[in-house]
Amino acid sequence: MSKIIGIDLGTTNSCAAIVEQQGHVKLIPYKGGEFIIPSIFAIDDKGNELIGHEAKRQWQLNPRNTVYAAKRLVGRSFESDVVAEMQKSVAYEMRPGERNDVVLDVGKKHFRLAEISAKILNKIRSVAQDYLQEKVTRAVVTVPAYFTDRQRQAVKDAGKMIQLEVVRIINEPTAAALAYGIGKSLHETVVIYDLGGGTFDVSIIEIRDRVFEVKATGGDIFLGGLDFDQAMIRHVIDDFQKKHHIDLATDPVAMQRIKDLAERVKIDLSSREQAPFNVPFVTMTPQGQPLNIDFVFTRKLLEELTSKLVDRTFQILDRVMEDAQLDPSKVDELLLVGGQTRMPLVQKRLTDRFGKAPSKGVHPDEAVAIGAALYANSLEDNSNLRLQLLDVIPMAIGLEKAGGTFHVVFPRNAAIPNAKAIEATTSYDDQTEVAMRIFQGDHGQVSHNELLGDFLFSGLRPAPAGKARLEITFDVNIEGILTMSARDMETGRQMKTTVRVTQH
Ligand code: AMP
Repeated sequence: MSKIIGIDLGTTNSCAAIVEQQGHVKLIPYKGGEFIIPSIFAIDDKGNELIGHEAKRQWQLNPRNTVYAAKRLVGRSFESDVVAEMQKSVAYEMRPGERNDVVLDVGKKHFRLAEISAKILNKIRSVAQDYLQEKVTRAVVTVPAYFTDRQRQAVKDAGKMIQLEVVRIINEPTAAALAYGIGKSLHETVVIYDLGGGTFDVSIIEIRDRVFEVKATGGDIFLGGLDFDQAMIRHVIDDFQKKHHIDLATDPVAMQRIKDLAERVKIDLSSREQAPFNVPFVTMTPQGQPLNIDFVFTRKLLEELTSKLVDRTFQILDRVMEDAQLDPSKVDELLLVGGQTRMPLVQKRLTDRFGKAPSKGVHPDEAVAIGAALYANSLEDNSNLRLQLLDVIPMAIGLEKAGGTFHVVFPRNAAIPNAKAIEATTSYDDQTEVAMRIFQGDHGQVSHNELLGDFLFSGLRPAPAGKARLEITFDVNIEGILTMSARDMETGRQMKTTVRVTQH
């Protein structure tokens, strides 16, 4: 059987790693020695599909048919706020799909989000196959800790589409903790602050040698480097509007050039105090005179524009610390993961909060893939690495009660794997089916939470109202994925479970 690789399927960048013969873990290099594959999919004007660097290279010229940051849309319903927000900042078109999901129009074709993830996974797989010179059919794939059940399912589905078995889904911060802690006989409490391209996660993990126990987790899958870029872009276009009375936001090619430069300037400002922000010939006046964007961005201005985003990460961090009942002075190490943690403001604020500098023990871009590969290796039959991962669910899971209230079955941070049963009864005579809507989220009203599924349990013994009793079991596996089952309590017979299309 082929080896299991570890894949970090990121919002902006992805990468893969493998444990080689002598137990040495290695990032899988792409042509030219790069490890990172941009998580970008495009179709060019000849109808060719492009993925990764090839897609990124033509991004400026073909913004409408270039899909990036699609991970933010995975497992979302079209009506969600996140989708509305995304539509404002991307040039590609979105439509509601048949499964209450989002469909993207790219190069006159339609793609479900899982298909886009599948394309990117397939690219990573083919890079790995070229490197390993063998077929790759199995992978451990990481996801943000703050992913819902539905988003996790979508990653599994993406794997199935390309015959890549997603052997296990693990959380990104947990993977980073594995990269940090495996084989060091540690007994430490670590905080993982993971601010990547699109998502923010924070987890508190207790490491006891080979046991990695997540105490609490939290995050926001709409908070990452892209939002820092966006704050800069907004500033640039507002400034241009003031100076020239021209709205660049309506010009996709100009926007793409500004977007590209914003990210580069942002990265530059992590190592210098100021950097030029120049876009020559960005547009023309109504009289046909060319106009340039031409000014100097300072680190101070960047910090002013983005300090609110950093504040949001701290609100989440505080809540997670409170959930774990952990005082900052009791934290042994603070691990930084994700490219955006290179921003000096982030590091300074964290140093102030914890009274010590963040650990240099993990590489912010590589730790997640490395941890996934180490975990993958521990799942191989011939492995003697016995790891125990004890994770949690990031948001409560429960059901809808009368009036749209949310009845919690598993509170947030409940340990997984986990199973719970609830009893239910019928409300009219000879009722043989019971329907139930299951949600995930932390709000008391289901309308603010994410619908996981509309379940129908059928095959109940006919009986007067209130007399038939059934037991419904909620089972959350180690990957944070929910399955539901029900049995007739009188006969003990298992009932048939159907998941109807999730629709609001
Ligand atoms: P990741 O998802 O971990 O690959 O993180 C990518 C994000 O990190 C992108 O938004 C990058 O713009 C950002 N990033 C990478 N390097 C730096 C840096 N030196 N300073 C600030 N942000 C960075």
